[in-house]
Amino acid sequence: MTALSSGAAVSETVSETVSETVSEAADPLADAHSRLRAAIDVLGYEEHMYDMLATARREMTVSVPLRRDDGTVEVLTGHRVQHNFSRGPAKGGLRFSPDVDLDEVRALAMWMTWKCALLDVPYGGAKGGVRIDPRLYSTSELERVTRRYTSEIMPIIGPEQDIPAPDVGTDEQTMAWIMDSYSVSSGHTVLGVVTGKPISLGGSLGRATATSRGVVHVALAALAERGLAPTASRAAVQGFGKVGRSAARFLAEAGVAVTAVSDQYGGIRADGGIDIVDLEAHVDRTGTVVGFPGAEPLDGDLLVEEDVELLVPAAVECVIRADNAARVRAAVIVEGANGPTTPEADRILEDNGQLVVPDILANAGGVVVSYFEWVQANQAYWWSEDDVEARLRERMLGAWERVRLYAAQRDLSLRSAATCLAVESVAQAHRRRGLYP
Ligand code: GLU
Repeated sequence: MTALSSGAAVSETVSETVSETVSEAADPLADAHSRLRAAIDVLGYEEHMYDMLATARREMTVSVPLRRDDGTVEVLTGHRVQHNFSRGPAKGGLRFSPDVDLDEVRALAMWMTWKCALLDVPYGGAKGGVRIDPRLYSTSELERVTRRYTSEIMPIIGPEQDIPAPDVGTDEQTMAWIMDSYSVSSGHTVLGVVTGKPISLGGSLGRATATSRGVVHVALAALAERGLAPTASRAAVQGFGKVGRSAARFLAEAGVAVTAVSDQYGGIRADGGIDIVDLEAHVDRTGTVVGFPGAEPLDGDLLVEEDVELLVPAAVECVIRADNAARVRAAVIVEGANGPTTPEADRILEDNGQLVVPDILANAGGVVVSYFEWVQANQAYWWSEDDVEARLRERMLGAWERVRLYAAQRDLSLRSAATCLAVESVAQAHRRRGLYP
């Protein structure tokens, strides 16, 4: 049985899967390099610091042979990129997507380094990916892919080396399989090898919604910065998967009218606001936001151009580009996804006076609670949900305040300020350790 042949599996798989198509012009690694270059220039660092930080410390590409349910064998490709170890072990998600390529994984790994440094989480960045469209494979096929990929990258992962987590196209079940495969090979259960695990297997309370919670903490702070009360604000959310879905719900709970939502199949809009709880029930039933009664259809590609105060791109990279940035009307853009805005688009938004809260700050809630999960797993001592939520809020708002102040004092965009703060922290650690040998 393929995932697509069962209604229940469709809704679960789709909501956790790729939410938008990456544009042909997308070049996340070039974007990541250009942001690093700008930060190095602002900080006045030596050229070798750019070279050091533009390059991943370690990369592994593996073949993942998969026995399909019909007995045929297919060979997939997987990567794990560990961008930096100066501040601690590497950390970052694992993506199952047909768009995965090594350069994309490199960019995503670098962004993880900045995210961890900015939030003062003691890790360097990593990212993994398998080039596969998970919607086209059965659950048991995905289990075999995950276990074989884990065994191939086994020499470079571990609770003190590199700790994977969910990302586009993977979920807590994927993490349970990785944990089990790693543990079986180690001869004992190793809870700290992955985060984003099911609660029953050492996952943390609050991890599943952590990225969305973090997005909403900084979104509300950014709206306040612009003098916008939540109840006087409308929001458009792109993507209704792991990040967008709960972000839309938390925004609605805070009093924001969520007037437009999209997923990979299309979008919907309603001037009076969409009932997110009803929409979630509709998505659980049908696998998509499309066709939600009480809302008009909307071309998913046009969601970013909606007339709203807050735009939350929560799908994939490079969706706000030079060709559509001038038509983005939101006063505040909060990047739930990694790399949704290209550098050219950034310049257009900045010239138009729009406030962009960058991904490395806005969506860092996931890795913050991953860190909490790793701490809890390593100590075998579990925190209450209230503890997790309070500590997450404190870290997100603390980082928001640091970035806001740094930007204001130096007349920088929030993105430049966040990247500079992160690069500064990694460079400091690197200098104090010294270059070996
Ligand atoms: N994949 C998530 C991200 O991009 C979470 C990573 C983690 O928790 O390690 O931030």
